[in-house]
Amino acid sequence: MMATTTSLERWGIVGGGMLGMTLALRLAQQGKDVTLFEAADHLGGLASAWSLRDVVWDRHYHVTLLSDTSLRSLLTELGLEKEMQWVETRTGFYTDGELYSMSNTLEFLRFPPLNLIDKLRLGATIFYASKIRDWRRLEKIPVADWLRRWSGDHTLERIWLPLLRAKLGENYTKTSAAFIWATIARMYAARRTGLKKEMFGYVPGGYARVLERFGQKLAAEKINIKLRHAAHRLAPANGSGVRIEFENGQRETFDQVVVTVAAPLAARICPDLSEEEKARLKGIEYQGIVCASLLLKQPLANFYVTNITDSWVPFTAVIEMSALVDRKTFGGNALVYLPKYVTSDDPFFTASDEEVKESFTTALLRMYPHLLQSDLLCFRVSRVRYVHAISTLNYSQRLPATATSLPGVHIVNSAHIVNGTLNVNETVQLAEKAAEKFSSLPDSLFRIRHV
Ligand SMILES: Cc1cc2nc3c(=O)[nH]c(=O)nc-3n(C[C@H](O)[C@H](O)[C@H](O)COP(=O)(O)OP(=O)(O)OC[C@H]3O[C@@H](n4cnc5c(N)ncnc54)[C@H](O)[C@@H]3O)c2cc1C
Repeated sequence: MMATTTSLERWGIVGGGMLGMTLALRLAQQGKDVTLFEAADHLGGLASAWSLRDVVWDRHYHVTLLSDTSLRSLLTELGLEKEMQWVETRTGFYTDGELYSMSNTLEFLRFPPLNLIDKLRLGATIFYASKIRDWRRLEKIPVADWLRRWSGDHTLERIWLPLLRAKLGENYTKTSAAFIWATIARMYAARRTGLKKEMFGYVPGGYARVLERFGQKLAAEKINIKLRHAAHRLAPANGSGVRIEFENGQRETFDQVVVTVAAPLAARICPDLSEEEKARLKGIEYQGIVCASLLLKQPLANFYVTNITDSWVPFTAVIEMSALVDRKTFGGNALVYLPKYVTSDDPFFTASDEEVKESFTTALLRMYPHLLQSDLLCFRVSRVRYVHAISTLNYSQRLPATATSLPGVHIVNSAHIVNGTLNVNETVQLAEKAAEKFSSLPDSLFRIRHV
Protein backbone atom coordinates (compact mmCIF):
# COMPACT_ATOMS: atom_id res chain seq x y z
CA MET A 1 0.00 0.00 0.00
CA MET A 2 1.19 3.51 -0.76
CA ALA A 3 2.15 5.63 2.27
CA THR A 4 0.86 9.21 2.34
CA THR A 5 2.79 12.10 3.94
CA THR A 6 2.00 15.76 4.08
CA SER A 7 4.79 18.09 3.04
CA LEU A 8 5.10 21.78 2.36
CA GLU A 9 4.66 22.91 -1.19
CA ARG A 10 8.10 23.61 -2.69
CA TRP A 11 8.52 26.93 -4.47
CA GLY A 12 11.60 28.04 -6.42
CA ILE A 13 12.17 31.70 -7.22
CA VAL A 14 14.53 32.72 -10.01
CA GLY A 15 16.15 36.13 -9.46
CA GLY A 16 17.35 37.53 -6.14
CA GLY A 17 16.56 41.22 -6.72
CA MET A 18 14.15 43.12 -4.46
CA LEU A 19 11.25 41.48 -6.30
CA GLY A 20 12.44 37.91 -5.81
CA MET A 21 13.46 38.61 -2.21
CA THR A 22 10.12 40.14 -1.25
CA LEU A 23 8.22 37.36 -2.97
CA ALA A 24 10.35 34.75 -1.20
CA LEU A 25 9.60 36.36 2.16
CA ARG A 26 5.85 36.55 1.61
CA LEU A 27 5.59 32.99 0.26
CA ALA A 28 7.58 31.64 3.21
CA GLN A 29 5.30 33.58 5.55
CA GLN A 30 2.40 31.73 3.89
CA GLY A 31 4.00 28.47 5.00
CA LYS A 32 5.65 27.44 1.75
CA ASP A 33 9.08 25.86 1.43
CA VAL A 34 10.99 28.48 -0.61
CA THR A 35 14.35 28.46 -2.38
CA LEU A 36 15.67 31.67 -3.94
CA PHE A 37 18.14 31.41 -6.83
CA GLU A 38 20.40 34.28 -7.85
CA ALA A 39 22.89 34.24 -10.72
CA ALA A 40 25.30 36.72 -9.08
CA ASP A 41 27.34 36.11 -5.94
CA HIS A 42 25.19 38.58 -4.00
CA LEU A 43 21.52 39.50 -3.60
CA GLY A 44 19.90 42.76 -4.65
CA GLY A 45 20.22 43.00 -8.46
CA LEU A 46 19.79 46.62 -9.56
CA ALA A 47 19.66 47.71 -5.91
CA SER A 48 22.91 46.02 -4.93
CA ALA A 49 25.94 47.88 -3.61
CA TRP A 50 29.60 48.05 -4.58
CA SER A 51 32.76 49.82 -3.45
CA LEU A 52 34.50 52.95 -4.62
CA ARG A 53 37.82 52.70 -2.83
CA ASP A 54 36.71 52.03 0.75
CA VAL A 55 33.25 53.60 0.29
CA VAL A 56 30.46 51.03 -0.02
CA TRP A 57 27.28 52.44 -1.54
CA ASP A 58 24.59 51.62 -4.12
CA ARG A 59 25.78 50.66 -7.59
CA HIS A 60 22.87 52.73 -8.92
CA TYR A 61 21.55 55.79 -7.06
CA HIS A 62 18.51 55.07 -4.90
CA VAL A 63 16.23 57.28 -2.83
CA THR A 64 13.06 56.41 -1.00
CA LEU A 65 10.13 58.82 -1.01
CA LEU A 66 8.05 59.60 2.07
CA SER A 67 5.10 58.33 0.07
CA ASP A 68 6.75 54.92 -0.61
CA THR A 69 4.51 53.25 1.95
CA SER A 70 4.97 49.62 0.84
CA LEU A 71 8.76 49.87 0.94
CA ARG A 72 8.66 51.69 4.26
CA SER A 73 6.47 48.91 5.74
CA LEU A 74 9.01 46.35 4.55
CA LEU A 75 11.82 48.39 6.10
CA THR A 76 9.81 48.49 9.34
CA GLU A 77 9.67 44.69 9.26
CA LEU A 78 13.44 44.68 8.77
CA GLY A 79 13.84 47.04 11.75
CA LEU A 80 15.40 49.78 9.59
CA GLU A 81 12.61 52.27 8.95
CA LYS A 82 13.08 54.13 12.22
CA GLU A 83 16.66 54.90 11.25
CA MET A 84 15.77 56.48 7.94
CA GLN A 85 17.10 59.96 7.28
CA TRP A 86 14.71 62.35 5.54
CA VAL A 87 16.04 65.32 3.63
CA GLU A 88 14.57 68.12 1.52
CA THR A 89 16.73 68.18 -1.58
CA ARG A 90 17.14 70.71 -4.38
CA THR A 91 16.84 70.15 -8.12
CA GLY A 92 19.02 71.68 -10.82
CA PHE A 93 18.58 72.25 -14.53
CA TYR A 94 21.53 72.47 -16.89
CA THR A 95 20.48 74.26 -20.04
CA ASP A 96 22.30 76.41 -22.64
CA GLY A 97 25.56 75.90 -20.76
CA GLU A 98 24.15 77.31 -17.49
CA LEU A 99 23.17 75.62 -14.27
CA TYR A 100 19.88 76.80 -12.71
CA SER A 101 18.21 75.90 -9.46
CA MET A 102 14.62 74.72 -10.05
CA SER A 103 13.66 73.92 -6.50
CA ASN A 104 10.67 76.21 -5.94
CA THR A 105 8.02 78.20 -7.78
CA LEU A 106 10.00 81.43 -7.73
CA GLU A 107 13.00 79.76 -9.34
CA PHE A 108 10.72 78.18 -11.91
CA LEU A 109 9.22 81.60 -12.74
CA ARG A 110 12.74 83.03 -13.19
CA PHE A 111 13.89 80.18 -15.46
CA PRO A 112 15.15 82.02 -18.62
CA PRO A 113 14.65 79.48 -21.45
CA LEU A 114 10.85 79.72 -21.22
CA ASN A 115 8.60 82.80 -21.42
CA LEU A 116 5.76 83.36 -18.98
CA ILE A 117 3.10 81.82 -21.21
CA ASP A 118 5.29 78.72 -21.72
CA LYS A 119 5.74 78.45 -17.97
CA LEU A 120 2.04 78.77 -17.26
CA ARG A 121 1.28 76.08 -19.83
CA LEU A 122 4.02 73.83 -18.46
CA GLY A 123 2.71 74.25 -14.91
CA ALA A 124 -0.84 73.60 -16.11
CA THR A 125 0.28 70.45 -17.98
CA ILE A 126 1.82 69.00 -14.83
CA PHE A 127 -1.16 69.99 -12.69
CA TYR A 128 -3.63 68.54 -15.21
CA ALA A 129 -1.64 65.27 -15.49
CA SER A 130 -1.62 64.96 -11.70
CA LYS A 131 -5.44 65.07 -11.72
CA ILE A 132 -5.95 62.37 -14.37
CA ARG A 133 -7.13 59.09 -12.91
CA ASP A 134 -7.93 57.11 -16.09
CA TRP A 135 -4.37 56.46 -17.31
CA ARG A 136 -5.54 53.84 -19.81
CA ARG A 137 -6.74 56.42 -22.31
CA LEU A 138 -3.24 57.96 -22.26
CA GLU A 139 -1.78 54.64 -23.40
CA LYS A 140 -3.18 55.28 -26.86
CA ILE A 141 -1.47 58.66 -27.35
CA PRO A 142 2.24 59.13 -28.19
CA VAL A 143 3.85 61.04 -25.34
CA ALA A 144 5.28 63.82 -27.53
CA ASP A 145 1.86 64.47 -29.14
CA TRP A 146 0.23 64.74 -25.74
CA LEU A 147 2.89 67.07 -24.37
CA ARG A 148 2.80 69.26 -27.49
CA ARG A 149 -0.97 69.55 -27.13
CA TRP A 150 -0.80 70.77 -23.53
CA SER A 151 2.57 72.56 -23.25
CA GLY A 152 3.04 73.89 -26.81
CA ASP A 153 5.81 73.49 -29.40
CA HIS A 154 8.43 75.64 -27.70
CA THR A 155 8.32 73.90 -24.32
CA LEU A 156 8.20 70.52 -26.04
CA GLU A 157 11.42 71.29 -27.93
CA ARG A 158 13.24 73.10 -25.11
CA ILE A 159 12.26 71.00 -22.09
CA TRP A 160 10.19 67.89 -22.67
CA LEU A 161 12.05 66.34 -25.61
CA PRO A 162 15.48 66.65 -23.96
CA LEU A 163 14.04 65.11 -20.79
CA LEU A 164 12.30 62.32 -22.69
CA ARG A 165 15.45 61.60 -24.69
CA ALA A 166 17.41 61.55 -21.42
CA LYS A 167 15.30 58.73 -20.05
CA LEU A 168 14.19 56.94 -23.22
CA GLY A 169 16.61 57.85 -26.02
CA GLU A 170 14.90 57.68 -29.41
CA ASN A 171 12.48 55.15 -27.90
CA TYR A 172 10.47 58.18 -26.78
CA THR A 173 8.78 58.07 -30.21
CA LYS A 174 7.28 54.67 -29.29
CA THR A 175 6.31 55.73 -25.77
CA SER A 176 2.78 56.58 -24.72
CA ALA A 177 1.61 59.51 -22.62
CA ALA A 178 1.02 57.05 -19.76
CA PHE A 179 4.79 57.26 -19.13
CA ILE A 180 4.74 60.98 -18.34
CA TRP A 181 1.52 60.51 -16.36
CA ALA A 182 3.22 57.87 -14.17
CA THR A 183 6.30 60.07 -13.69
CA ILE A 184 4.17 63.03 -12.62
CA ALA A 185 1.98 60.80 -10.43
CA ARG A 186 5.13 59.76 -8.51
CA MET A 187 6.06 63.43 -8.05
CA TYR A 188 2.59 64.08 -6.62
CA ALA A 189 2.34 60.85 -4.62
CA ALA A 190 3.07 62.60 -1.33
CA ARG A 191 0.08 64.88 -1.70
CA ARG A 192 -2.13 61.99 -2.79
CA THR A 193 -1.18 60.09 0.35
CA GLY A 194 -2.05 63.10 2.52
CA LEU A 195 1.50 64.34 3.15
CA LYS A 196 2.16 68.06 2.79
CA LYS A 197 5.41 67.73 0.91
CA GLU A 198 7.67 65.09 -0.52
CA MET A 199 10.99 64.29 1.09
CA PHE A 200 13.77 62.00 0.01
CA GLY A 201 15.13 59.42 2.39
CA TYR A 202 17.70 56.69 2.76
CA VAL A 203 18.73 54.07 5.25
CA PRO A 204 22.17 54.85 6.75
CA GLY A 205 24.52 52.40 5.10
CA GLY A 206 22.43 52.47 1.90
CA TYR A 207 21.11 49.35 0.18
CA ALA A 208 24.13 47.36 1.33
CA ARG A 209 22.63 47.54 4.81
CA VAL A 210 19.05 46.92 3.63
CA LEU A 211 20.14 43.86 1.68
CA GLU A 212 22.25 42.47 4.49
CA ARG A 213 19.32 42.75 6.91
CA PHE A 214 16.89 41.40 4.29
CA GLY A 215 19.16 38.38 3.69
CA GLN A 216 19.19 37.70 7.44
CA LYS A 217 15.40 37.93 7.55
CA LEU A 218 15.06 35.46 4.67
CA ALA A 219 17.41 33.04 6.40
CA ALA A 220 15.43 33.41 9.64
CA GLU A 221 12.27 32.48 7.67
CA LYS A 222 14.12 29.31 6.59
CA ILE A 223 14.36 30.39 2.96
CA ASN A 224 17.11 28.56 1.17
CA ILE A 225 19.25 31.16 -0.66
CA LYS A 226 21.40 29.85 -3.49
CA LEU A 227 23.80 32.37 -5.01
CA ARG A 228 25.79 31.70 -8.21
CA HIS A 229 22.81 29.73 -9.53
CA ALA A 230 21.97 31.14 -12.96
CA ALA A 231 18.87 29.35 -14.26
CA HIS A 232 19.60 28.07 -17.73
CA ARG A 233 16.36 26.24 -18.50
CA LEU A 234 13.00 25.48 -16.92
CA ALA A 235 11.18 22.36 -18.09
CA PRO A 236 8.35 20.12 -16.89
CA ALA A 237 9.77 17.53 -14.48
CA ASN A 238 9.15 13.83 -14.93
CA GLY A 239 5.90 13.13 -13.10
CA SER A 240 4.83 16.56 -11.90
CA GLY A 241 6.47 19.84 -11.03
CA VAL A 242 9.08 22.01 -12.69
CA ARG A 243 12.76 21.21 -13.15
CA ILE A 244 15.29 24.05 -13.14
CA GLU A 245 18.62 23.39 -14.81
CA PHE A 246 21.40 25.76 -13.81
CA GLU A 247 24.42 26.93 -15.72
CA ASN A 248 26.62 25.36 -13.03
CA GLY A 249 25.25 21.94 -14.04
CA GLN A 250 22.97 21.47 -11.03
CA ARG A 251 19.26 20.64 -11.29
CA GLU A 252 16.39 21.03 -8.83
CA THR A 253 12.69 20.24 -8.98
CA PHE A 254 9.86 22.29 -7.49
CA ASP A 255 6.09 22.22 -7.34
CA GLN A 256 5.94 25.84 -8.50
CA VAL A 257 8.54 28.24 -9.88
CA VAL A 258 8.34 32.02 -10.20
CA VAL A 259 10.68 33.71 -12.66
CA THR A 260 11.39 37.37 -11.79
CA VAL A 261 14.05 38.21 -14.40
CA ALA A 262 13.51 40.62 -17.32
CA ALA A 263 11.04 39.46 -19.97
CA PRO A 264 13.51 38.59 -22.80
CA LEU A 265 15.62 36.59 -20.32
CA ALA A 266 12.48 34.81 -19.08
CA ALA A 267 11.65 33.83 -22.69
CA ARG A 268 15.19 32.47 -23.10
CA ILE A 269 15.14 30.26 -20.01
CA CYS A 270 11.61 28.97 -20.68
CA PRO A 271 11.92 27.57 -24.23
CA ASP A 272 8.87 25.32 -23.72
CA LEU A 273 6.48 28.27 -23.52
CA SER A 274 4.13 28.62 -26.48
CA GLU A 275 5.37 30.65 -29.46
CA GLU A 276 2.76 33.30 -28.64
CA GLU A 277 3.95 33.61 -25.03
CA LYS A 278 7.58 33.87 -26.10
CA ALA A 279 6.70 36.50 -28.72
CA ARG A 280 4.91 38.57 -26.07
CA LEU A 281 7.88 38.38 -23.70
CA LYS A 282 10.39 39.22 -26.42
CA GLY A 283 8.10 42.01 -27.67
CA ILE A 284 8.61 44.02 -24.48
CA GLU A 285 11.22 46.66 -25.24
CA TYR A 286 13.67 47.67 -22.54
CA GLN A 287 15.84 50.65 -21.75
CA GLY A 288 19.28 49.83 -20.46
CA ILE A 289 21.78 51.96 -18.62
CA VAL A 290 25.46 52.76 -18.53
CA CYS A 291 25.88 54.40 -15.14
CA ALA A 292 29.12 55.80 -13.77
CA SER A 293 29.79 56.30 -10.05
CA LEU A 294 32.36 58.95 -9.18
CA LEU A 295 34.03 59.77 -5.91
CA LEU A 296 35.14 63.42 -5.97
CA LYS A 297 37.17 65.48 -3.53
CA GLN A 298 34.68 68.35 -3.71
CA PRO A 299 30.93 68.71 -4.31
CA LEU A 300 29.47 69.82 -7.65
CA ALA A 301 26.45 72.00 -6.88
CA ASN A 302 24.47 70.22 -4.14
CA PHE A 303 21.45 69.44 -6.30
CA TYR A 304 20.31 65.85 -5.79
CA VAL A 305 19.19 65.69 -9.42
CA THR A 306 20.35 67.95 -12.21
CA ASN A 307 18.35 67.52 -15.41
CA ILE A 308 20.26 68.21 -18.59
CA THR A 309 18.81 69.60 -21.80
CA ASP A 310 22.07 70.29 -23.70
CA SER A 311 22.59 67.50 -26.22
CA TRP A 312 26.42 67.71 -26.22
CA VAL A 313 26.53 66.26 -22.70
CA PRO A 314 27.10 62.50 -23.04
CA PHE A 315 25.21 61.52 -19.86
CA THR A 316 21.57 62.17 -19.22
CA ALA A 317 21.56 63.62 -15.70
CA VAL A 318 23.83 64.34 -12.77
CA ILE A 319 22.88 62.73 -9.47
CA GLU A 320 24.78 64.12 -6.52
CA MET A 321 24.17 61.54 -3.81
CA SER A 322 26.18 63.59 -1.32
CA ALA A 323 23.53 66.33 -1.59
CA LEU A 324 21.25 63.82 0.15
CA VAL A 325 23.63 61.73 2.23
CA ASP A 326 26.14 63.36 4.58
CA ARG A 327 29.60 63.53 2.98
CA LYS A 328 31.07 61.99 6.14
CA THR A 329 29.56 58.72 4.90
CA PHE A 330 31.85 58.97 1.88
CA GLY A 331 35.00 59.82 3.81
CA GLY A 332 34.34 63.57 3.38
CA ASN A 333 34.12 63.18 -0.40
CA ALA A 334 31.26 63.75 -2.85
CA LEU A 335 29.50 60.76 -4.46
CA VAL A 336 28.11 61.49 -7.91
CA TYR A 337 26.36 59.30 -10.49
CA LEU A 338 26.34 60.00 -14.21
CA PRO A 339 23.69 57.82 -15.85
CA LYS A 340 23.21 57.37 -19.56
CA TYR A 341 19.98 55.58 -20.45
CA VAL A 342 20.29 53.70 -23.74
CA THR A 343 18.34 51.10 -25.68
CA SER A 344 19.30 47.55 -24.72
CA ASP A 345 21.23 47.04 -27.99
CA ASP A 346 23.02 50.42 -27.99
CA PRO A 347 26.65 50.25 -29.21
CA PHE A 348 27.63 52.34 -26.15
CA PHE A 349 27.44 49.10 -24.13
CA THR A 350 30.66 48.02 -25.81
CA ALA A 351 32.56 51.22 -24.91
CA SER A 352 35.41 50.40 -22.53
CA ASP A 353 35.57 51.85 -19.01
CA GLU A 354 38.38 54.13 -20.18
CA GLU A 355 36.30 55.45 -23.10
CA VAL A 356 33.31 56.11 -20.82
CA LYS A 357 35.57 57.82 -18.29
CA GLU A 358 37.21 60.02 -20.90
CA SER A 359 33.94 61.22 -22.44
CA PHE A 360 32.04 61.64 -19.13
CA THR A 361 34.79 63.45 -17.21
CA THR A 362 35.58 65.82 -20.10
CA ALA A 363 31.93 66.91 -20.12
CA LEU A 364 31.72 67.11 -16.33
CA LEU A 365 34.79 69.37 -16.13
CA ARG A 366 33.23 71.65 -18.75
CA MET A 367 29.90 71.79 -16.90
CA TYR A 368 31.46 72.53 -13.50
CA PRO A 369 34.47 74.83 -14.12
CA HIS A 370 35.52 74.76 -10.42
CA LEU A 371 36.09 71.00 -10.67
CA LEU A 372 39.64 69.83 -11.33
CA GLN A 373 40.86 66.63 -12.91
CA SER A 374 42.75 65.97 -9.66
CA ASP A 375 39.42 66.00 -7.75
CA LEU A 376 38.47 62.69 -9.34
CA LEU A 377 39.32 59.95 -6.86
CA CYS A 378 37.49 57.00 -8.34
CA PHE A 379 35.37 56.16 -11.42
CA ARG A 380 33.43 52.92 -11.89
CA VAL A 381 31.01 51.94 -14.63
CA SER A 382 27.91 49.76 -14.29
CA ARG A 383 26.18 48.42 -17.39
CA VAL A 384 22.73 46.82 -17.41
CA ARG A 385 20.92 45.99 -20.65
CA TYR A 386 17.45 45.43 -19.19
CA VAL A 387 16.49 48.07 -16.65
CA HIS A 388 12.91 49.07 -17.35
CA ALA A 389 10.26 48.22 -19.90
CA ILE A 390 9.25 51.03 -22.21
CA SER A 391 5.58 52.07 -21.94
CA THR A 392 4.85 51.57 -25.61
CA LEU A 393 1.41 52.36 -27.06
CA ASN A 394 -1.33 50.18 -25.54
CA TYR A 395 1.28 48.59 -23.30
CA SER A 396 -1.12 47.04 -20.78
CA GLN A 397 -2.74 44.99 -23.58
CA ARG A 398 0.58 43.66 -24.84
CA LEU A 399 1.73 42.42 -21.48
CA PRO A 400 2.13 38.66 -20.96
CA ALA A 401 0.07 37.11 -18.17
CA THR A 402 1.74 36.03 -14.94
CA ALA A 403 0.40 32.49 -15.33
CA THR A 404 1.97 30.55 -18.19
CA SER A 405 1.00 27.52 -20.25
CA LEU A 406 3.73 25.52 -18.46
CA PRO A 407 2.14 23.97 -15.37
CA GLY A 408 3.72 25.41 -12.22
CA VAL A 409 5.65 28.19 -14.01
CA HIS A 410 4.81 31.85 -13.29
CA ILE A 411 6.54 34.95 -14.62
CA VAL A 412 6.42 38.19 -12.62
CA ASN A 413 8.85 40.98 -13.37
CA SER A 414 9.11 44.74 -13.38
CA ALA A 415 7.47 44.84 -16.82
CA HIS A 416 4.26 44.10 -14.90
CA ILE A 417 4.39 47.58 -13.38
CA VAL A 418 1.83 48.97 -15.80
CA ASN A 419 0.77 52.26 -14.32
CA GLY A 420 3.89 53.31 -12.44
CA THR A 421 7.58 54.03 -12.84
CA LEU A 422 10.33 51.58 -11.92
CA ASN A 423 11.15 51.97 -8.24
CA VAL A 424 11.54 49.69 -5.25
CA ASN A 425 8.16 50.67 -3.80
CA GLU A 426 6.41 49.48 -6.99
CA THR A 427 8.63 46.38 -6.99
CA VAL A 428 7.63 45.49 -3.42
CA GLN A 429 3.96 46.07 -4.24
CA LEU A 430 4.24 43.84 -7.30
CA ALA A 431 5.75 41.04 -5.21
CA GLU A 432 3.10 41.39 -2.53
CA LYS A 433 0.22 41.32 -5.01
CA ALA A 434 1.73 38.26 -6.72
CA ALA A 435 2.19 36.49 -3.37
CA GLU A 436 -1.45 37.19 -2.52
CA LYS A 437 -2.52 35.73 -5.85
CA PHE A 438 -0.36 32.65 -5.32
CA SER A 439 -1.83 32.12 -1.85
CA SER A 440 -5.18 31.37 -3.41
CA LEU A 441 -3.90 28.96 -6.06
CA PRO A 442 -5.73 25.67 -5.71
CA ASP A 443 -3.71 23.12 -3.78
CA SER A 444 -1.32 25.79 -2.63
CA LEU A 445 -1.19 25.49 1.13
CA PHE A 446 -0.28 21.85 1.56
CA ARG A 447 0.44 19.13 -0.87
CA ILE A 448 -0.13 15.45 -0.27
CA ARG A 449 2.85 13.50 -1.50
CA HIS A 450 2.67 9.79 -2.17
CA VAL A 451 5.90 8.06 -1.27
C1 LIG B 1 20.01 53.70 -12.27
C2 LIG B 1 18.88 53.25 -11.40
C3 LIG B 1 18.37 54.12 -10.46
C4 LIG B 1 17.31 53.72 -9.65
N1 LIG B 1 16.84 54.60 -8.72
C5 LIG B 1 15.87 54.22 -7.88
C6 LIG B 1 15.45 55.08 -6.82
O1 LIG B 1 15.95 56.18 -6.66
N2 LIG B 1 14.47 54.65 -6.00
C7 LIG B 1 13.88 53.44 -6.16
O2 LIG B 1 13.00 53.09 -5.36
N3 LIG B 1 14.25 52.59 -7.16
C8 LIG B 1 15.22 52.96 -8.03
N4 LIG B 1 15.63 52.10 -9.03
C9 LIG B 1 14.83 50.90 -9.32
C10 LIG B 1 15.11 49.70 -8.44
O3 LIG B 1 16.49 49.39 -8.48
C11 LIG B 1 14.28 48.53 -8.98
O4 LIG B 1 12.91 48.86 -8.83
C12 LIG B 1 14.50 47.19 -8.29
O5 LIG B 1 15.82 46.99 -7.89
C13 LIG B 1 14.05 46.07 -9.24
O6 LIG B 1 14.20 44.81 -8.64
P1 LIG B 1 13.89 43.45 -9.45
O7 LIG B 1 14.06 42.35 -8.51
O8 LIG B 1 12.59 43.59 -10.17
O9 LIG B 1 14.97 43.41 -10.62
P2 LIG B 1 16.55 43.16 -10.57
O10 LIG B 1 17.13 43.97 -9.51
O11 LIG B 1 17.03 43.35 -11.97
O12 LIG B 1 16.68 41.63 -10.14
C14 LIG B 1 16.71 40.56 -11.03
C15 LIG B 1 17.74 39.57 -10.51
O13 LIG B 1 17.71 38.40 -11.31
C16 LIG B 1 19.03 37.92 -11.45
N5 LIG B 1 19.07 37.03 -12.62
C17 LIG B 1 19.07 37.38 -13.93
N6 LIG B 1 19.09 36.28 -14.70
C18 LIG B 1 19.09 35.23 -13.86
C19 LIG B 1 19.09 33.81 -14.06
N7 LIG B 1 19.10 33.26 -15.28
N8 LIG B 1 19.09 33.00 -12.96
C20 LIG B 1 19.09 33.52 -11.69
N9 LIG B 1 19.08 34.86 -11.47
C21 LIG B 1 19.08 35.69 -12.54
C22 LIG B 1 19.84 39.19 -11.59
O14 LIG B 1 21.22 38.95 -11.31
C23 LIG B 1 19.16 40.10 -10.58
O15 LIG B 1 19.77 40.00 -9.30
C24 LIG B 1 16.71 52.45 -9.83
C25 LIG B 1 17.25 51.57 -10.78
C26 LIG B 1 18.33 51.95 -11.55
C27 LIG B 1 18.90 50.99 -12.54
